[in-house]
Amino acid sequence: MHEVTDTPDSAAPSRPLAVVTGASAGIGEAIATRLAGEGFRLLLGARREDRIRQLAARLGAEARVLDVADESSVAAFCAGIDRLEVLVNNAGGARGLDRLADARSETWRWMWEVNVLGLMQMTRALLPALEASGRGHIVNVSSTAGFEVYEGGSGYTSAKHAVHAISRTLRLELAGRPIRVTEVSPGMVETDFSLNRFVGDAGRAADVYRGVTPLTAADIADVVAFAVTRPAHVNLDEIVVRPVQQASAYKLVRHG
Ligand code: NDP
Repeated sequence: MHEVTDTPDSAAPSRPLAVVTGASAGIGEAIATRLAGEGFRLLLGARREDRIRQLAARLGAEARVLDVADESSVAAFCAGIDRLEVLVNNAGGARGLDRLADARSETWRWMWEVNVLGLMQMTRALLPALEASGRGHIVNVSSTAGFEVYEGGSGYTSAKHAVHAISRTLRLELAGRPIRVTEVSPGMVETDFSLNRFVGDAGRAADVYRGVTPLTAADIADVVAFAVTRPAHVNLDEIVVRPVQQASAYKLVRHG
């Protein structure tokens, strides 16, 4: 249990609130589940309403449809949140593995709108509520692609490099105010990430994880839960998590 007990007594402090974007699947769903277990109240956002509603029902949480890339959707989602302890900017992903010579503007636009502009829009909208709580915490789910590059990956790596730059900039801009900024950078995690990257090509997606014991979404949730339950004066700036078989974007040792 992370905090004070939940009680109907309005004079008593309520449980801390966490917003998780991209909570309908994978890492976001695991973070939501884990934070509920840590005693947080949760507000879940994603585009697939049926999935976030089911998860919210399971966790005793609230769900609202959210497209982080759409400013009016962000505004509607954030309306009425005037006090917030944790914002997990998790919504994101990759599309394609095209070399720059073959880059498609629409997939680049998608990656930048969701991973970068979406994160900016959610953070900008919720900064006042994070500050009002007196103990705000922004967790940006970035990637090892935020500091490494690989051929065919420039659309995604450039977007995650931007997340890295934004996280560092925010830490400077918020210094002295009660808002922590943690960037979590996972290596390979087995979720629908590759299926979405390869637009439903299950064979190609499965090949990504061939011969590897990848991280699970729960492994990342574990790290996020650790970061947000440190004492309020402690900031874990950057956390890099990889499977043991993956030493870098270019060093993956497959077994079998
Ligand atoms: P998934 O594809 O399984 O999940 C992506 C989530 O993002 C879904 O819940 C999806 O929900 C949500 N999402 C996508 N677009 C939007 C949008 N416009 N507005 C709101 N939500 C959106 O992948 P992961 O769980 O693996 O990815 C989560 C994060 O982790 C991403 O930022 C990804 O870049 C990062 N990451 C993943 C790694 C991996 O190997 N899996 C490694 C490193 C980082 P919906 O479709 O319902 O909107």
